[in-house]
Amino acid sequence: MERLRELDIPERTVTVQIDKTKCVGPFECGECLKNCPAAVFITYPKNRVRGEICNDWGIVADDVFCWGCGVCIKVCPKNAITISELRK
Ligand code: SF4
Ligand code: SF4
Repeated sequence: MERLRELDIPERTVTVQIDKTKCVGPFECGECLKNCPAAVFITYPKNRVRGEICNDWGIVADDVFCWGCGVCIKVCPKNAITISELRK
């Protein structure tokens, strides 16, 4: 397949962890989702029952595109996010 454009993606240097015991989730908070400039945070349904609307959602970090700006740490009211440098 022909590439439409060249993408210059910086090398990943950090990893993002969310402490699930502290995070209150996207409905009660969601500040990381709203403020991350790299759209690293993703919501997912914790309990799916066929035919029913899920009201229990969690957040995970797809940190491949995180550039370590630290905004999520500043906005998280529960201190649930940790950013660590990747070891080479
Ligand atoms: S450090 Fe910045 S880019 Fe990385 S997850 Fe947090 S807000 Fe997003
Ligand atoms: S900002 Fe913190 S507490 Fe709020 S949803 Fe994100 S990780 Fe959870």
